[in-house]
Amino acid sequence: RFEGVTMAPPDPILGVSEAFKADTNDMKLNLGVGAYRTEELQPYVLNVVKKAENRMLERRENKEYLPIEGLAAFNKVTAELLFGADNPIIQQGRVATVQGLSGTGSLRLAAVFIERYFPGAKVLISSPTWGNHKNIFNDSRVPWSEYRYYDPKTVGLDFDGLISDIKAAPEGSFVLLHGCAHNPTGIDPTPEQWEKIADIIQERNHIPFFDVAYQGFASGSLDADASSVRLFAARGLEILVAQSYSKNLGLYAERIGAINVVCSTSDAAARVKSQLKRIARPMYSNPPIHGARIVANVVGDPALFNEWKEEMELMAGRIKNVRQKLFDSLSAKDKSGKDWSFILKQIGMFSFTGLNKTQTDNMTDKWHVYMTKDGRISLAGLSLAKCEYLADAIIDSFHN
Ligand code: PMP
Repeated sequence: RFEGVTMAPPDPILGVSEAFKADTNDMKLNLGVGAYRTEELQPYVLNVVKKAENRMLERRENKEYLPIEGLAAFNKVTAELLFGADNPIIQQGRVATVQGLSGTGSLRLAAVFIERYFPGAKVLISSPTWGNHKNIFNDSRVPWSEYRYYDPKTVGLDFDGLISDIKAAPEGSFVLLHGCAHNPTGIDPTPEQWEKIADIIQERNHIPFFDVAYQGFASGSLDADASSVRLFAARGLEILVAQSYSKNLGLYAERIGAINVVCSTSDAAARVKSQLKRIARPMYSNPPIHGARIVANVVGDPALFNEWKEEMELMAGRIKNVRQKLFDSLSAKDKSGKDWSFILKQIGMFSFTGLNKTQTDNMTDKWHVYMTKDGRISLAGLSLAKCEYLADAIIDSFHN
């Protein structure tokens, strides 16, 4: 009976890593998945994570089940990190926070919540967006459509397109926004543009739904990177926010994140939380504890918290350095007069190169550079030593 099962296509992002592993060429470079590497291109475990884990070992903590909503100490600090500990919405108990299986699992809880309580409501997602967003809403049977975001002419934000598409959406739609460091484009709205977006969302009675996967990675400052979310919260709006610690704490495989639902009253928050728990229970019963303890120890301890900020600045700084070097190499080598300054304007882990599918095939087939077919490269997987090689590959691919 399983004979009838067809082969699923490889995942467009994680499939790139599989192809990279199979390549035996010495020059190969994996710029597919957004995972931080050192200058030696090795995975990096943060010192604060090791310290937190040592403390956890010393305490010989047990492995009892967590409650369905996760570790209380984690849920407290994660909401505070996002909104600011002194935010009235926290003090008023208006935020329902449930630990999720990293960003993806938290988005999934929110998607099922939307499907259950807002049947027929549409989620608007940016064009382009992180590939898994569409999978998550499809599998949760939530209808979605795209709003304009990226303008290939300016290699920047199509702000007018964005505004008119959000305006035109049915009243009461959910608008999925990347809190900072938009994936894949690396292009964020300015603070003035965020205000405008909030105006339209309010006017149309939409519900803002933030995906925050890179807090600290856009500017290097945790507070600055949460300013989009806080701006919406300050308007008294109801908001959904999914959080991930994969990138900023390097906890990729621990699957640690959260879904936060900002409600109008603490009563509503309690009810929403009860429903999120009801969704989680038959899916995975209760979340894993290890990553939650790490986050609670780092974010909840002033000394480790400060150390974390320094380490994050180091990671963000290394990415800025390779961004600069890649721009310098491209500008020096390319004789066509093409303006490469968009690379410096983009922020976060990625650069959206504008390479099309044929050109990205050339990057991989001829140059052994692995990247997603939308033209995105992860600068977190690039070293200063490899910038010149990558610049040669990009120029060759663009002009052939
Ligand atoms: N949202 C966006 C925009 C992302 O880029 C990612 C990670 N690539 C995620 C969510 C979720 O990742 P994770 O499930 O590892 O937290």
